[in-house]
Amino acid sequence: MAQKRDILDDIIDIQDNWQAVQNPLAGIADSLAQDPSQRKVFDPADYKEKPWCNSSRCLRCSAEREDVCSVCLDVCPTHSIDIHNKSVTITDSCRKCGLCQAACPTEVFNTRRHMAKQLYDNIARAASAYEQCYVTCTRALKRLPKPNEILLPCVGMISRDLWFSILVDYTNVSVYLPLGICDRCRTTTGEDFYTEAIGTAEEWAKSAVGLEVDKDNLTHEFTREYRRSQFVSSAIHATENLVTRSSPKLAGAQAVAKKITDHANRLNELQRQLENAVGAKTTQNRQRILTQNRKLMMGGLQHDLTPTSARPAATAQRPASPMQSTWTITATCTLWRRTA
Ligand code: SF4
Ligand code: SF4
Repeated sequence: MAQKRDILDDIIDIQDNWQAVQNPLAGIADSLAQDPSQRKVFDPADYKEKPWCNSSRCLRCSAEREDVCSVCLDVCPTHSIDIHNKSVTITDSCRKCGLCQAACPTEVFNTRRHMAKQLYDNIARAASAYEQCYVTCTRALKRLPKPNEILLPCVGMISRDLWFSILVDYTNVSVYLPLGICDRCRTTTGEDFYTEAIGTAEEWAKSAVGLEVDKDNLTHEFTREYRRSQFVSSAIHATENLVTRSSPKLAGAQAVAKKITDHANRLNELQRQLENAVGAKTTQNRQRILTQNRKLMMGGLQHDLTPTSARPAATAQRPASPMQSTWTITATCTLWRRTA
């Protein structure tokens, strides 16, 4: 339901329009003035990283049995993973797609910038400040990402558990992939992997990830709440006495940062409660591992169990995405396919 405008919205519009009238060529002048050597150019390699392996977490290695798990070997499009002598290694043929990272149940594979919690935080930041957040890949976007675009080597780098926790918390996250883009991709297992991950997460969360296929439809507008709190924040700085500084919730950026910190605190508390309940070690004196993905998912489940009346208004009623019809479920209810 559209929110009712008030005088604050009118003032923000007037301020925006006034700035545009005052300096109509600001954007062009800025880009011309920029030192060309300092201008950032799009390089897909900047968004890719070969994972390193923590073999001690591998189920196959610790059980010393091949039938225990082969998920990473099955998903790797280039057969770059070797598991021998209790050690997991990645060869130089790795495409840096990140699928092994999303698939491994014990998070054997790690990268500096694409760990599950970092991905969640990046998406949460964009989804909290912008009308729409887009998750996409380097082949689809082919340019530097805007702040509400999460650019990944492959959309399959987001695991099923991570999609679930995103869906529980945010209703404005879409995948941007032009039609047919995955058909020509050398990450041949990526499309199957992300359709299954998204489909299962949608089924669990009873909510939908949007799908955008046309680059002209990508929007980069701030949310009304964000613009209002930014405006009030700058008013506080300008006048120092309109509202007291003890209202950090009013500042847009601060509010988003606080939301993410609160989320991290909730997850840490959840881990502490679990360790209290079941102990940090197993009966064989092994350290219990709560992976980032599982922690995020449990946080999402905890959130979903919160009574509707106690949740913030934005998530109390989760409407089905307008793009929901573009993901359809097969007869087995396990594998979803994109049909648009
Ligand atoms: S998916 Fe993870 S646990 Fe399974 S074999 Fe590969 S590295 Fe080991
Ligand atoms: S799944 Fe992707 S990132 Fe992982 S080893 Fe294979 S090519 Fe490299």
